[in-house]
Amino acid sequence: LFAGQTEFVKGVVGMDGLPPADRIEICFAGRSNVGKSSLINALTGTRGIARASNTPGRTQEINYFTQGPELYLVDLPGYGFAKAPVAVVAKWQGLLKSYLSGRQTLRRAFVLIDSRHGIKSVDDEILSLLDKSAVPFQVVMTKADKVKEKDRAVILDQVRAKLQRHPAAYPEMVVTSSEKGDGIATLRAIIAGLD
Ligand code: GDP
Repeated sequence: LFAGQTEFVKGVVGMDGLPPADRIEICFAGRSNVGKSSLINALTGTRGIARASNTPGRTQEINYFTQGPELYLVDLPGYGFAKAPVAVVAKWQGLLKSYLSGRQTLRRAFVLIDSRHGIKSVDDEILSLLDKSAVPFQVVMTKADKVKEKDRAVILDQVRAKLQRHPAAYPEMVVTSSEKGDGIATLRAIIAGLD
């Protein structure tokens, strides 16, 4: 499944802009600055592919990439911007809800969580939305190189405990560092194994 080249398809601002649901897709969600672009770049091995999603104006779009002939990688807008206007947040939540509940070909959501911070309440909201939409999701811990082994274990326990309250959650997390490359091959293998 995870084959070939990564190509940017389009940025989507409304449900009517979604590309045809003619292939399996996975999506990536996470707080702004969690390391989502870095992870997508590491995963696809294409430096700068996810840069589109960090350009001003692009940040509220759902960005579609094809990965080979059979898969869409979907980069959801980062959430939890402290300064985002209420109207912007509301619009994005509306789109997110429609997307998560209405996209038949969405196989799994990967929710990125910073290894230093664990699951915050703003993450919990997304996880609950995924539960409600019955979208199976898996947590990907980012920036693992930024925490000491001992502290990482504490955070992982916290995450594990919180995930028990989310019926749509996979119990296993993937610990990654885009900087060092840890966990990237594992994540790629997980995606490749989806059907
Ligand atoms: P996004 O807003 O979620 O797309 O986050 P970015 O990918 O732009 O990353 C935010 C910041 O964290 C940047 O300064 C990255 O260089 C840094 N960063 C991302 N991933 C890692 C990582 O695995 N290790 C370290 N040390 N820094 C990272």
